[in-house]
Amino acid sequence: MVSVNYYSTFSSPAWVYTLVYITIMMCFVLRNKDFVTAGFAIESIFDWFLPKEHEDFISYHIKRTSLTLFIHSMLPIGYLLGLGIITENLAIITSLDGLWWSTFVLMAHLLPLTTAFVISRWAHDNWSEHPIACTLKLFCPEGSSWKQLASSINIDYRGIDKISLEPSSLTKIVVTNSWIMKISPYKLELAHQSDSSLEVCSADTHHISVEGEGTVQYVNIKVKTTRPGVPSFFIRCNALDFNDLKNKIIRPIRILEGITFYKTRIDHFTEVFRETVEKNQTYAIPPNQELDICIGCMLMEPQVKLVKCCTQQQCTVCYCRPLWCLDCMAKWFASRQDQDHPETWLSSTCTCPVCRSVFCVLDVCLIRK
Ligand SMILES: [Zn+2]
Ligand SMILES: [Zn+2]
Ligand SMILES: [Zn+2]
Repeated sequence: MVSVNYYSTFSSPAWVYTLVYITIMMCFVLRNKDFVTAGFAIESIFDWFLPKEHEDFISYHIKRTSLTLFIHSMLPIGYLLGLGIITENLAIITSLDGLWWSTFVLMAHLLPLTTAFVISRWAHDNWSEHPIACTLKLFCPEGSSWKQLASSINIDYRGIDKISLEPSSLTKIVVTNSWIMKISPYKLELAHQSDSSLEVCSADTHHISVEGEGTVQYVNIKVKTTRPGVPSFFIRCNALDFNDLKNKIIRPIRILEGITFYKTRIDHFTEVFRETVEKNQTYAIPPNQELDICIGCMLMEPQVKLVKCCTQQQCTVCYCRPLWCLDCMAKWFASRQDQDHPETWLSSTCTCPVCRSVFCVLDVCLIRK
């Protein structure tokens, strides 16, 4: 074997290369947002090789996780290869010089080999040994195969009403009508809605601006499943998405004692607005009138109608149909106010988002069928 002095090889270009390689690969492995946007992510680079996530969700993630593991295991040997080229000394790729260096060189060679071996085992019998397939088998009723379950999940995933959240560039949470799934670089964790219980176990608040207005809160939710063999997992989501998540999950979500959701100024106002409106007169809609969907959130049924009930001169009559849910109306109301003086909001007026007629909080009537 050619003896190469590792330390003398480490000239300054080698150091620069090492730093650049480590930085770039950290961004690649940790999925830096700019890298992902620029297409420097496994799923973008190997788009031609992977099935389409939308068409074959399970197969896509089986192949994506295996590929990610393999590519990541190649990074140390990739480093050595680059180093050999930079220092014009390819012998460094196999040089065993010094304990630490030798360990690194051996590991760099063994890692991709071991990973390739493990993946080849997973791929046996059309990927039926892959951890995702093994998890699916735990959900299969007797006499059915994991492939059948996989295709039912694929169909579920194609539904347009699923919720998809990305709390970080490393994880994605997907909630479909039946499944709660957490997608991460090496894993796909899943729980069936019918046998899981959810618990908000912690919340963390981050201030992104000095005034405290730019505050984001994240909640960490433990998804526990009663299915034998299926491990529990944690999902993390922005507190603002929590309501969407709660509406999509058929099981109640327990919130551990002591956890409070951070309220924004708008949330506070919405609460007061709601309490005030609930004391107002109600408006009975004609029995043949169909209610569409709130044009603000596209989720709720319209809940309010603007009817002039107050005695103020400036308020006018609105002839619009009920178009808004109460929360959206409160948000609209708040958005039209003097943002520096929230104490004046409730006593101020606003204009109908559609016809611009003026109304005050007393003119917002809940509808009665
Ligand atoms: Zn709404
Ligand atoms: Zn109107
Ligand atoms: Zn009024």
